[in-house]
Amino acid sequence: MKNEKRVYTFGNGKAEGRADMRNQLGGKGANLAEMNLIGIPVPPGFTITTDVCNEYYEIGKEKVVELLKSEVEASMKHIENLMNLKFGDPENPLLVSVRSGARASMPGMMDTILNLGLNDEVVEGLAKKTGNPRFAYDAYRRFVQMYGDVVLGLKPVNKTDIDPFEEIIEKVKEEKGVKLDNELTVDDLKKLVKLFKEAILTRTGQAFPTNPVEQLWGAICAVFDSWMNDRAILYRKMEGIPAEWGTAVTVMAMVFGNMGETSATGVCFSRNAATGENLFNGEWLVNAQGEDVVAGIRTPQQITKVGSQRWAELQGISEEDRAAKYPSMEEAMPEIYKELDAIQTRLEDHYRDMQDMEFTVQEGKLWFLQTRNGKRTGAAMVKIAIDLLHEGMIDEKTAIQRCEPQKLDELLHPVFNKEEVKKAKSLTRGLPASPGAACGQIVFFAEDAAKWAGDGHKVVLVRIETSPEDLAGMAVAEGILTARGGMTSHAAVVARGMGKCCVSGAGAINVNYKQKTVEIDGKVLHEGDYISLNGSTGDVYDGKVSTQAADLSGDFAELMELCAKYTRLVVRTNADTPHDAQVARNFGAVGIGLCRTEHMFFDAEKIVAMREMILSETLEGRKKALQKLLPFQKADFIGIFKAMDGCPVNIRLLDPPLHEFVPQDAKGQQEMAEDMGVTVEYIKQRVESLSEHNPMLGHRGCRLGNTYPEITQTQTRAIISAACDLKKQGLDPKPEIMVPLTGSVFEFEAQEKVIREEAAKVFEEEGVEIPFKVGTMIEIPRAALTADCIARSAEYFSFGTNDLTQMTFGYSRDDIASFLPVYLEKKILNVDPFQVLDQRGVGQLIQMAVEKGRGVRSDLKCGICGEHGGEPSSVRFCDKIGLNYVSCSPFRVPIARLAAAQAAIENE
Ligand code: PEP
Ligand code: MG
Repeated sequence: MKNEKRVYTFGNGKAEGRADMRNQLGGKGANLAEMNLIGIPVPPGFTITTDVCNEYYEIGKEKVVELLKSEVEASMKHIENLMNLKFGDPENPLLVSVRSGARASMPGMMDTILNLGLNDEVVEGLAKKTGNPRFAYDAYRRFVQMYGDVVLGLKPVNKTDIDPFEEIIEKVKEEKGVKLDNELTVDDLKKLVKLFKEAILTRTGQAFPTNPVEQLWGAICAVFDSWMNDRAILYRKMEGIPAEWGTAVTVMAMVFGNMGETSATGVCFSRNAATGENLFNGEWLVNAQGEDVVAGIRTPQQITKVGSQRWAELQGISEEDRAAKYPSMEEAMPEIYKELDAIQTRLEDHYRDMQDMEFTVQEGKLWFLQTRNGKRTGAAMVKIAIDLLHEGMIDEKTAIQRCEPQKLDELLHPVFNKEEVKKAKSLTRGLPASPGAACGQIVFFAEDAAKWAGDGHKVVLVRIETSPEDLAGMAVAEGILTARGGMTSHAAVVARGMGKCCVSGAGAINVNYKQKTVEIDGKVLHEGDYISLNGSTGDVYDGKVSTQAADLSGDFAELMELCAKYTRLVVRTNADTPHDAQVARNFGAVGIGLCRTEHMFFDAEKIVAMREMILSETLEGRKKALQKLLPFQKADFIGIFKAMDGCPVNIRLLDPPLHEFVPQDAKGQQEMAEDMGVTVEYIKQRVESLSEHNPMLGHRGCRLGNTYPEITQTQTRAIISAACDLKKQGLDPKPEIMVPLTGSVFEFEAQEKVIREEAAKVFEEEGVEIPFKVGTMIEIPRAALTADCIARSAEYFSFGTNDLTQMTFGYSRDDIASFLPVYLEKKILNVDPFQVLDQRGVGQLIQMAVEKGRGVRSDLKCGICGEHGGEPSSVRFCDKIGLNYVSCSPFRVPIARLAAAQAAIENE
């Protein structure tokens, strides 16, 4: 145990913790402490540290309870004193909530228990004291239900089963002939409690504990246990949160939003979490407990009048109806609304970021239960950072640091094709919970989503409501549609975090899980039918609507300009077509870092010539095929040079793993035989003789150019003559020719000679000359080790970290999937090294090669062009070791630019 103090109290304007103690107290605990310190009304409580969570898993439940006992007892006294109530005392009972709270927010992943401290005697006392037996028994009913589920484990056995507690509620309602929960009488609620307890005893073998102290320890331990539940583990994996961080546990005095019409509960955001708009917004429910809002069981009302009017417009509700049936909090409780608005402004000013807050109003008194920096979509992230900058709340560097590079990805995601969507049939409209467009086949269960997606289908997950158990299904779905729940329902919060399109609260849809159908406005859709969602408007369309790339300007462009101001490392792109080059250039790429020439032969006509070249046994045969390839290559290079006019274009000589290109199937072999005028037998035999045991280590890269120099000659001719043509047209092509898979300087020099001789010939024929560079990939460990020798001849290095990772680890890049999951599970690897650069091993080779190379050639330009070039942590490393550029696929260019600017600021 690092710190002997295990429990930190807060309440009444004082606190033992602070906002910067989130590592020990979790985000929730730290901010509750901070809110006390800045005078915001928060119910008193205490937080057990995240270190205790680790102790819990090291030494076990009993010992941890023993260690915590005296501090927890003293802290409960502290709450009792401040609230003037007594835990377990029927005359004047204190009830508490027990909540989880990790360092990073994990919405809905762990467990919470409310109304703890009730039993048959205490509930009677509470009823008497409040004069509101309905409230008391409703609280008791909820507590037994929550405790039975979370602590005692009475849950549905199968996913399709309904919740055992809900089953009992439904049965009682049926007997009574009522539809809504609030139509149940106090006696009905009493009956529910009794039936719940019986079900818990018969189905779990455990009796519901009547002693409040026993209840408290059960709940504290259950929260620690929930750190290791499946959904929390999955969420941590997705968000890269280490298990060692642990969760804190906060125990807080209960305040009640369900004590009648002057009580309420809600969730609010200081700005719009979906769009970033600077507009206070949120949802609330009168006479309800907090979980009613987020669980998506009742569709809540809007807090502000503007929000409420916008919501009504989307739902097609008239202003009179809205004002009468769905008033905003601003209209229904104007005084409290004013206080709420003032506090939300204060919290945002204090934290200088968008806040996501939970509050409760108990009989006219406002309490804040939580504040945190709000999760937001990629679009909102950029807008909020730029707006806060303009408002003078943060400086430029902070604005850059506030944006998560990976999240930019969401901005780059498609929207619907405008024409198609005009013609599409709108089935209904729900809430625009998470923006973007999605189109896919309907599935109803998370497991089905995973299965279908695994088979290559695009799916949309359709649910009545989602629960955290659906996380895995949501992760693989294109979009999520739910019948119930508001903008802060679990589905909405999680989808926004994932950057997934989500439409929630589409009340007009009727989901039938048993039949796997959804009925919308009389039309019945089945599993597998197509549906399209617009998460920005809430529209649900029948069938397929195709999508198109997003428009990037405004705040995004401003952020990118800021990045350019602070970055040191520039970003190039990996592109093999003029279109991709143009896309990347629009995203701010300043050149091509890798043009894989073999990728230029994937289309039907070109692949035949390429295969012919590979299959030819003789020099003549190859030359003939190469002559066919030459015009294609030249035309492609012209297109690419044009798209990247004035910027360097690094073209790599042919590096085809042969097995990917020779025809393996009978049809392809037949075609090749006809085309080359030989027998199928001959082709078969050639394919066989070309087959290799280890194609990745075989006849590829510069080994090809060194054994067949005519390939290098032809490619050089295509590159240089394309550049000459453009030069004559007044353009400014900047070719770089790169030798792949160099392992020794001699391999490089042999190729360099061929390149320079052929280029000289072309210049002479064309009558113009263009400066160009000849460099090499460094992707074999030996090349890194002998980089000083190679740099004598090579004018630049480009680190091919895909092959370098493959050959440094000895993991086949094509076969890692067979053992990677187990390696990750057993923590032999923390991440996939093909995605995140292994800085200690592969990174060391890169760093050494840069130093050795620059020792010989001080102006040696170094870049990286493996997949890592667009991965933020790898980009940071590239900046640290002084590379000149990173190169990545076009859609990752903005991500790399942001990561590069952040790296420059951090490494300053
Ligand atoms: C590499 O090996 O990192 C590289 C960029 O080349 P390729 O992926 O084409 O082998
Ligand atoms: Mg490679």
